[in-house]
Amino acid sequence: MLRKGCGHDGDIFVKACVEASFMLNALLDIFVPPVCPLCEEAIKKGALCGDCLALFEKEKISGPFCTTCGEPFASDTGGAHRCGRCSSVDPPFVEARSAFLYEGRVRDAVHSFKYGGRVTLGVSLALLMCGTTSPPKDLDLIVPVPLHRERLKSRGYNQSLLIARAVSKIITAPLDCLHLRKTRLTADQVDLTAREREENVRGAFEADASAFKNKTVLLIDDVLTTGSTVRECSKTLSRAGARVFILTLARAASL
Ligand SMILES: [Zn+2]
Ligand SMILES: [Zn+2]
Repeated sequence: MLRKGCGHDGDIFVKACVEASFMLNALLDIFVPPVCPLCEEAIKKGALCGDCLALFEKEKISGPFCTTCGEPFASDTGGAHRCGRCSSVDPPFVEARSAFLYEGRVRDAVHSFKYGGRVTLGVSLALLMCGTTSPPKDLDLIVPVPLHRERLKSRGYNQSLLIARAVSKIITAPLDCLHLRKTRLTADQVDLTAREREENVRGAFEADASAFKNKTVLLIDDVLTTGSTVRECSKTLSRAGARVFILTLARAASL
């Protein structure tokens, strides 16, 4: 039986898109020289051309950052340590990491991917994300931050699911895109303050304990801004019995 409200139709669409994009890339490589998906410069191999890669490299987060939530620190003092927020209250996840700052070419790429319908970028972004960070070992499941069914209908695809499905192929870990669901449609987070964002997503997700009990989960999202969405998803997954790690392609420079 199809589950209502979990984006099942969208999942089928996304699965078809990602499978098609892997197959199409392989076929195109035979007949047409591959091009950079961002600037269309010819490339021999890899996710992006040399120029775009260099612009991504500029935004790479290499430390120092909070050992728990990954928030970049302004200066390298005091060795590896937690930020003030993680020191005062334990976060609902084990560790969060982001590959790049949400700036420059990374920001342009996410915009094209998320709002411009460039769904095939998901594979390149996932390759860059996995090449830049070290996803935890011994994962049981990879789980994308879900979209509400109505948002999925209007956008046509869940960008986090596209990245998560490609990551699951790259690191060969199983994907679960059905058992964490967004059950309440929330206002767009863009114009909200950090506190408002937190309230906006509170109680908006549900997770099946039967799928997540005693599981180590890698939660995937495209961009982390204040972290309210991934924190709420992590709380929901933790209540369902999961140990949660978070990986995002990018994060806002200052939260
Ligand atoms: Zn390029
Ligand atoms: Zn922290």
